[in-house]
Amino acid sequence: MELHSSFSSSSSPPAMSPESCCVKVAVNVRPLIGDELAQGCRECVSFSPVTPQVQMGTHSFTFDHVYGSKGSPSSLMFEECVAPLVDGLFHGYNATVLAYGQTGSGKTYAMGTAFKDGTNSGLIPQVMSALFNKIDSLKHQTGFQLHVSFIEILKEEVLDLLDSVPFNRLANGTPGKVGLSKSPVQIRESPNGEITLSGATEVSIATKEEMASCLEKGSLTRATGSTNMNNQSSRSHAIFTITLEQTRKICSSSEVKDSVDEDMGEEYCCAKLHLVDLAGSERAKRTGSSGVRMKEGIHINRGLFALGNVISALGDEKKRKEGAHVPYRDSKLTRLLQDSLGGNSKTVMIACISPADINAEETLNTLKYANRARNIQNKPVANKDLIGSEVQKMRQQLQYLQAALSARGETPSEEVLVLREKIMKLETANEELSRELHFYRSKIAPLDYCDITAHEDGVSFPKDDGLKRGFESMDSDYEMSEATSGVISEDIDRESKEWEHALRQNNMGNELDELSKRLEEKESEMKVCGVGTETIRQHFEKKMMELEKEKRTVQVERDLLLAEVEKLAASSDRQAQVARDNHAQKLKSLETQISDLKMKQENQVEASKQKQKSEDAAKRLQAEIQCIKAQKVQLQQKMKQEAEQFRQWKASQEKEFLQLKKEGRKTEHERLKLEALTRRQKMVLHRKTEEATMATKRLKELLESRKPSPRDTSVTANGQVPTRQVNEKTLRKWVDNELEVMAKVHQVRFQYEKQMQVRAALAEELNSLKREINFASSPHQEKNGQFRFLSPNTRLERIASLEGMLDVSSNALTAMASQLSEAEEREHNLHAKTRWNHVQSMTNAKCLLQYVFNSAAEARCKMWEKDVDIKEKKEQINDLLIEM
Ligand code: ADP
Ligand code: MG
Repeated sequence: MELHSSFSSSSSPPAMSPESCCVKVAVNVRPLIGDELAQGCRECVSFSPVTPQVQMGTHSFTFDHVYGSKGSPSSLMFEECVAPLVDGLFHGYNATVLAYGQTGSGKTYAMGTAFKDGTNSGLIPQVMSALFNKIDSLKHQTGFQLHVSFIEILKEEVLDLLDSVPFNRLANGTPGKVGLSKSPVQIRESPNGEITLSGATEVSIATKEEMASCLEKGSLTRATGSTNMNNQSSRSHAIFTITLEQTRKICSSSEVKDSVDEDMGEEYCCAKLHLVDLAGSERAKRTGSSGVRMKEGIHINRGLFALGNVISALGDEKKRKEGAHVPYRDSKLTRLLQDSLGGNSKTVMIACISPADINAEETLNTLKYANRARNIQNKPVANKDLIGSEVQKMRQQLQYLQAALSARGETPSEEVLVLREKIMKLETANEELSRELHFYRSKIAPLDYCDITAHEDGVSFPKDDGLKRGFESMDSDYEMSEATSGVISEDIDRESKEWEHALRQNNMGNELDELSKRLEEKESEMKVCGVGTETIRQHFEKKMMELEKEKRTVQVERDLLLAEVEKLAASSDRQAQVARDNHAQKLKSLETQISDLKMKQENQVEASKQKQKSEDAAKRLQAEIQCIKAQKVQLQQKMKQEAEQFRQWKASQEKEFLQLKKEGRKTEHERLKLEALTRRQKMVLHRKTEEATMATKRLKELLESRKPSPRDTSVTANGQVPTRQVNEKTLRKWVDNELEVMAKVHQVRFQYEKQMQVRAALAEELNSLKREINFASSPHQEKNGQFRFLSPNTRLERIASLEGMLDVSSNALTAMASQLSEAEEREHNLHAKTRWNHVQSMTNAKCLLQYVFNSAAEARCKMWEKDVDIKEKKEQINDLLIEM
C-alpha cells in the first residue's frame, strides 16, 4: 500500500501546519549541440566528481543536483527531482517545476513542453505516466478528479493555449482574439490568498491520453505562435498546470479487515502542479554601436526581471529577516508563481545551461540566479480538509517500514550481478581476440622471409634490389602514418616498374640475339648447300649431254667397228685376222668406254637426284630464314615499342616528380607563410588577450574595491568631524570610480565581442581544415582557398596551433564573461533608486553635479580634439596613398 508514503522529510508534518523547505535547484547541462560544435566551441563548465558542484572559471556553485555532461545522467532527473513532487500531490502538496535558462539551453527539451505524441522524453510526459500509474493503483479507494490548464504569458498578457478559439497574434506581437473572443484570462486572488486564473480553459481529464493531447494541442498553439512571431516562444513563459482533487473515505483501522467504518467521514484534498517553461533568460541585445554601451535599462521581459527580483528578495536571508517587500505584483508571472516561490508549494528549479564557451556569460548569470533561488524558503502545507489521526499513525508506520526496507538495499546486488556477467563476457571476447591476433602474427612472420624469387611462366625472377628495398622499408616502417606509407608504396611501384621494364627488355634482347644467331647459322648453312644451284644444274645437264654425246659417238664407233669385224670375219684372211683382233680389242675398249660412260651417266642421274633433295632443303631453309627474319623484325618492333612506352612513362614520372617538387616547394612556401601567419595571429591574440586581461583585471579590482563606499565615509564624516572638503572629495572619487567602472565594462564588453569574432574565425578555419582531413583522399574536394596546397603535416600543424589559439581565446572569453556578469550584478543592485542614496544634501548634489558637468565638458572637448586629430590623420593617409 503506497497510500501513506510520505513526501520527503522523515517525519510527516502535522496536518495544516506548514513545513519549511527550500527551493530545490538542479542544474541540467545539455551537451554541445550542432551549431556550437560547428563553431568549435569548448566546454567552459567543469564539475566536481563528488558533490553536485559546477565550476566556471573562478566561480564555483553548489546545487542540489547536477545533471548532464559529467554530472548525473539526465535520466535520473525525474526520479530524483520531480517524482517526489508527484507523490506530494497525492498528499495535497502544491508543487512547481520551473525550467530556467537562456534560449537554446534545453528548457523545452528538459520539460518536454514541445510534446509530440509518442515521445516520452522530458519531465511532463514522465509526470503524466507517474500520475496515472499512481491513480490506477489508488482508484479503488479514492475518488480522483483531474484538470489541466495550459497558458502562456507573452508580453504581460496571459494567453490560453487550450482555448478552442485560437488567439490571433497581431503583427506587432500583441495577441488579439478573433471571432467570438472570450474575455482575456485574469489573475485573481481568492480571499484565502490562493491565486487562480479566471477565464482560462480547464479541461477535465480522465485518461493519460487526454492529458497528452491537451499538452500537444497547447504546444502546437505555442509553436505556431513562435513561427509567426519570429521565435516569440523564447520571450514567453508556458505554464502547464495539473490540478488533482481527491476524495477519500476516512476509515478506522478496521479497514484492514475489510469492514469500512462509514462514520469517519471524507477527506478532500486538492493540489496543483505547475510545470513552467520560462522564457529565455538571455539579456536582450544591446543597443546600437555608438555611445557607451550601458546595460540596457529596459528589460524586454518584465516577468523574468520581476522573477529575478522576487528571487533576490526571497533568497537574501538578511532581506527576508527584515521582512523586505517581495515584489510579486510586478509581473503576471510572479503573481502566478507567488505560491511557488516562498509560499505554499514544493518547488524545484531546473537551471538549464549550455556548456559552450560562447555562452559563458549567460551560463554564469543562470548559475548565479539559480544559486540564489536555492535560498528561498517555501512553506508547503497539505491542502486537506480533514485527516484521520489513525491514517496519520499508519502513514508514519509505513514510512518507518519503508525506510527499514530501503536500508537493506537489495537492488545494488542485482546490478552487480549484471555487471559481473558483462565483465565475464568481455573477458572471454578479449581472450578470443588475443588468440586471433597471435594466430595472424604467427602467420605474418614467415611471410617476412619468404623468397620473392617466384617462378612465373618458367622465367626465374631474380631478386631485384629496388623491389627488395621497397619491401624492406615497408616492413620497417610498418607503423608509419598512412600518408608516408602511401609514398613508400608509390616508390615501390615505380622501382618495380622500372625493374620489370629492364627485365622485359633484357629478355627480348636475349630472344633477339638468339634469333640473330639462328639466322646466321641458317644463312651459312644455306651458303654451303645452296651456292649456285642453277650453275651446278646447268653443269650437270651439260655434262649429261656431253656424256650422252660421247656415248653416242662411242656407240657409233662401236657399231662401225662391229660391222667391220663382221666384214672381216667373212674375209678371214690373216690381215683380216689381225685387223679383226685389233678391232676386237678396240671394240672391247669401246665397250668398256660405253659402260664407263653409262656408269658416269647413272652417277650423274644419282647426283642430280641428290641435288634435287638439297634444293628442297635449301628452299626450306630459305623459308625458315624468312620466318626468323620476320620474327626478328617483329621482336625489334616490340622492343622499340616497349622502350617507347617506357620512355613515355619515365617522362611522365619525371614530369610528375618535377610537379611534385614544384608543389613541394609551394607547400614549403605555404608552410612558411602559414607559420608566419600563425606567429602573427598568436601575437595579435596575445596582445588582444593581454589587453582584455588587463581591462578585466582592472574591472575586477574596481568591482572589488567598492569597499570604502561614500556612504561609509559620509557616515564617518557625519558621525565624527564632518568636513565639507572630505565629503566632496570622497564623492568625487566615488563618481570617478563609478565612471571608470562604466568605461571598463564598456571596454571589456567591446573586447569580449572582438574576441568572439576572433574565436569564430579561428573555429571556422579549424572546421574547414578538419573537413579537409576527411576528404583528404580526394584532393579536389579541398577548399579553393588560399591554403590549397597544405600538405597533411602542415595541415596538422596548423590545426594544432589553431586549437591552441582557440583554447587561449576560450579562456579569455570565460574570464571576461565572468567579470561582465559581476558588473551586471552590481549594476542590477545599484538600481537607479539606490545609486544616489548617499548623496544626502543639496550641497552635496550640487557639488557632484558641478563635478560631473566639468568632466562631461572636458570629455566632450577631448572628443572634439580627437575628432580633429582623426580627420587630420585620415587626410595624411590619403595624401600618402595618392603619392604612392
Ligand atoms: P530552450 O527551450 O531552452 O530554448 P530547447 O529545449 O529548444 O531550448 O533546446 C535547444 C536545442 O538543444 C534543441 O535542438 C534540443 O533538441 C537540443 N537539446 C536540448 N537539450 C538537449 C539534451 N539534453 N540532449 C540533446 N539535445 C538537447
Ligand atoms: Mg523553449
